Amino acid sequence: MKDLMTRVKRDVRRVLHNNRGFTLIELLIVLAIIAIIAGIAVPRYTASLDKAKESACAANIAVLESAVMRYWADHLDSDEPYPENLAALKDKYIKDEPKCPKDNTTKYVYTTTTEVETGDVTFTITCPNHPVTNGEGG
Ligand SMILES: [Zn+2]
Repeated sequence: MKDLMTRVKRDVRRVLHNNRGFTLIELLIVLAIIAIIAGIAVPRYTASLDKAKESACAANIAVLESAVMRYWADHLDSDEPYPENLAALKDKYIKDEPKCPKDNTTKYVYTTTTEVETGDVTFTITCPNHPVTNGEGG
């Protein structure tokens, strides 16, 4: 055991006092390992970032739907209980009109449809960037 320890000590000392530096092969191996790790990590990071933005977008739509419903509840007695557009919700029902977190510029699309037979109005708020996560209210 003592023999092994002295040998390890001697080897460590030899490595520490080695002034040769690294060979090209050693540097290439390290670079290859870094490239492999980056190749795995970067796509995973961007995928999780996209998923997070999609969730934030769905949350924005839910907030807008809730604001439209509150507007509707406050304007039940009027002829037009639904807001004309999302900007009409500003200040009283939402602080600021949210934009899709994917690019921070895309506005949400608000549409109302009136059923011809019953006269029932339904509204939808959709995101042009995320057609799958569209919310629906009415
Ligand atoms: Zn979106």
